[in-house]
Amino acid sequence: MRKKRTIIIKGNRVKNQESRTKSQDIRCLDSWLLILKSKEKMSRVNPKFATELSKYGSSDFNACFNCGNCTATCSLSTTDSSFPREMIRYTTLGLEDDIKASLKPWECYYCGECSAECPRQAEPGELMMSLRRWLTAKYDWTGLSGLMYKSLPLSIAAFMLTFVGVLAFAFSVDFNLEHMMHVGHLFEAIAIASIMVVIFVPNIIRMWYFTIVQPGTKVPFKKYVSSMGEFFVTMFVQKRALDCDDNRFRWFEHFILVIGYLSLLFTTVFMDWFSTQYLAVNIFGYVMSAIVFIVTVDFVNSRIKKKKVMNQKSQPSDWFFVIWLFLMGLTAFMTRLFIDLNILEMNKWLYILHFTILVQWALIIVPFGKWTHFLYRSFAMYFAKLKEK
Ligand code: SF4
Ligand code: SF4
Repeated sequence: MRKKRTIIIKGNRVKNQESRTKSQDIRCLDSWLLILKSKEKMSRVNPKFATELSKYGSSDFNACFNCGNCTATCSLSTTDSSFPREMIRYTTLGLEDDIKASLKPWECYYCGECSAECPRQAEPGELMMSLRRWLTAKYDWTGLSGLMYKSLPLSIAAFMLTFVGVLAFAFSVDFNLEHMMHVGHLFEAIAIASIMVVIFVPNIIRMWYFTIVQPGTKVPFKKYVSSMGEFFVTMFVQKRALDCDDNRFRWFEHFILVIGYLSLLFTTVFMDWFSTQYLAVNIFGYVMSAIVFIVTVDFVNSRIKKKKVMNQKSQPSDWFFVIWLFLMGLTAFMTRLFIDLNILEMNKWLYILHFTILVQWALIIVPFGKWTHFLYRSFAMYFAKLKEK
């Protein structure tokens, strides 16, 4: 059930009086209830959790004085699923297990409304984003996600290593373009299947265990089947993001980016775009790669200009995601264009660049970087549906 929306006059710190009064009344009680709840459930309290989380981006949440404006402002927070204030309280109290069991960080689409309305500049939107990064690290059985989120030098070393690997491979086949393109095509298919089986399946099982099994939620098998639609709707349409205020254009950009990215993947992996003789497939590939790099140009531009709240605190993982997606679209487009112009043989380095970007994308960003949020959010919405009474 959606809660009654609070009327907020943007920029005016004297908000809806009823909401503020209620918030103030329950402020202390709220904290004590959380402590009692944690004791009752024997939740582990990690006094160093705030320090740990700051390594994932968020550092201003200690300024929070628990007024509740953020929750009142958030268009996605409901009476049944209230955030982000609850997550701030969990974080400051170090209730690590409760956060690990929570799906709420995935319900936030980082519109930034809460951060804009926070009277203490505690950046609740950024806290939710950081919790998503932290959760990603917790779900990942390899531990590599956490290491890369926390260490920029390690991420750079991983990118360099893959670059050297691609160069060594190109050298080993005498820079034979036909051979490199054949291996590049095989690599895409093998990488997708391997990452799915070796990384994502165990990680999703861990996520399910932390959020459904460990908290003791009983879900009949029938519900697992009947709720599957929520997973696909979230993955392809991100319908819930439309509920964020002033978010329609951003939602549309994300929507066509997802469609463009998945279509480009399908065209290159299953329809062998770089070798196809079918005009329709060729044109389709051009259109999809153009969509990917045009939308990502706008994303990069927004992050550089920092116009929106959600773009003001970009972490390296955010930059890697948009820049590599942009380079994927651009180099794929250029490679196919050079093939059609019959000049790729003279510009082998373009393909080597594209292959390097592809390998870095497939082995670093997809399994351990921000791409995973796309997958985990879809599962989170599915799991949240399973938990509904
Ligand atoms: S984050 Fe800001 S708006 Fe939210 S409860 Fe804390 S002080 Fe209030
Ligand atoms: S960033 Fe937007 S969706 Fe996320 S908690 Fe804040 S107001 Fe809600």
